[in-house]
Amino acid sequence: MPNDDGQDRGERFEQIALAVRNRDAGRCQRCEQPEGDDRLSVHHLVPDTNVPEGFDAHLPVNLVTLCRSCHAEMEAKTIEGQLRKLQIEDKTDLLLTQQERERLNDRLDDIGPDILNTKHVSEEEAKEFLDHDFDLGGTQVDLTDFQ
Ligand SMILES: [Zn+2]
Repeated sequence: MPNDDGQDRGERFEQIALAVRNRDAGRCQRCEQPEGDDRLSVHHLVPDTNVPEGFDAHLPVNLVTLCRSCHAEMEAKTIEGQLRKLQIEDKTDLLLTQQERERLNDRLDDIGPDILNTKHVSEEEAKEFLDHDFDLGGTQVDLTDFQ
């Protein structure tokens, strides 16, 4: 099923996005709007294109449930700016609980080979992701450009 970007990220991503919506209690993590006429989407804190090889952009720790208008506003922010806007002081709040992770991995076991991959979501990988300093490149404004 195509997502909001019109890309088919496959069934693995669908399952991960579902787990993220559940983690986020089905509400926009900025304005707390629940799913309604305005469909909620799952936002990548670090865009796919800025995630280097060896890291998985589709880990739950990189994903946050947002409504359409908050999503549009969030795209231009730095990671720190995004977390401030979301009032997330502790990045580890983005980790799934062990039970949530096990449920997700059971679902991933049920799906066949995927266009991306079918590997499990692990806590170690999630923590490595959180600890990594990603370069957001063009989305961060370099003030020297204005001098
Ligand atoms: Zn919102």
